[in-house]
Amino acid sequence: IKKIGVLTSGGDSPGMNAAIRSVVRTCAYHNVECIGIYRGYQGMIEGDFKEMGPRSVNNIVNKGGTILKSARSKEFMTVEGRKKAYENLKNAGVEALVVIGGDGSFTGAEVFNKEYGFPVMGIPGTIDNDIFGTSHTLGYDTALNTVVEVIDKIRDTAISHNRLFFVEVMGRDAGHIALNSGIGAGAEEILIPEEDLGLDRLLESLKRSKESGKSSSIVVVAEGDKIGKTVFELKDYVEENMPEYDVRVSVLGHMQRGGSPSCFDRVLASRLGVKAVESILEGKSNFMVGLLNDKVALTPLEQAIKGHTEIDKELLRVSDIMST
Ligand code: ATP
Repeated sequence: IKKIGVLTSGGDSPGMNAAIRSVVRTCAYHNVECIGIYRGYQGMIEGDFKEMGPRSVNNIVNKGGTILKSARSKEFMTVEGRKKAYENLKNAGVEALVVIGGDGSFTGAEVFNKEYGFPVMGIPGTIDNDIFGTSHTLGYDTALNTVVEVIDKIRDTAISHNRLFFVEVMGRDAGHIALNSGIGAGAEEILIPEEDLGLDRLLESLKRSKESGKSSSIVVVAEGDKIGKTVFELKDYVEENMPEYDVRVSVLGHMQRGGSPSCFDRVLASRLGVKAVESILEGKSNFMVGLLNDKVALTPLEQAIKGHTEIDKELLRVSDIMST
């Protein structure tokens, strides 16, 4: 293989740039050309390509977002769209593809591989940590640090006003961000999609903490929590049942996806990029590179897409004990 393409697709996450840099430099190291594809699969369809040498990725290891831009492409979900993309790659001499993205992007890569036998390799880039075959996705660690930093600030104002805060964090149907940031930031309760705490238990817990002398509390809520109420409905519910509480809501939103990647994410991105390119050069295809037991490992894309990394139930127990 003499030419490898790289793209970022789906939601961006901190560490994507460090991964692009790693792919580009590993190609250069092995004397393989690297082509950057802008705006994910949409750029592949439109032939929005750029040759990338090792100096083209200077000074991006510390930058959030993705210099290649990201996009969601409806057209790539059609046979005609993928045909255009294939022809563009063929005309440009690109022989394999590294896709940095989430499970949707991997599904696209897999479909493309099935249709054209085109070698593809995935790097998991999403803050949600919802992909099977890796203990950490790129951006997850940075997002955790961002969330903890913000909750620390919310705590300052919660304490000053004796308030209860519901803080909604990202993660879609996965509770990794909520659970880990909640423990890290000392939350009173953590509501996640994997575990139904129930409204009664939430109230009981808040009552207990009030009785034990706590005057302010933070409850971290994953956006897809199982109680099925929005943070605003939770606020109303608690205010109705515990009028003594002054309740506020904070939805953290997209700030969780931005910012300079943590050292962990930069190192992870560098390791995954090297493995992705070297695996392609060894003739492998249709895998995702991830981190398992602190070692870089390959998982078939099909499994990575279908599965989820389970939350560690022990963390729920730790969280319970911490809120004693
Ligand atoms: P995030 O986790 O941040 O949402 P993602 O990679 O899961 O990232 P998606 O929007 O689900 O994001 O997918 C990105 C792109 O992958 C889609 O816009 C589409 O172009 C392509 N894709 C997803 N599913 C398919 C599919 N079944 N067939 C072809 N392409 C697909």
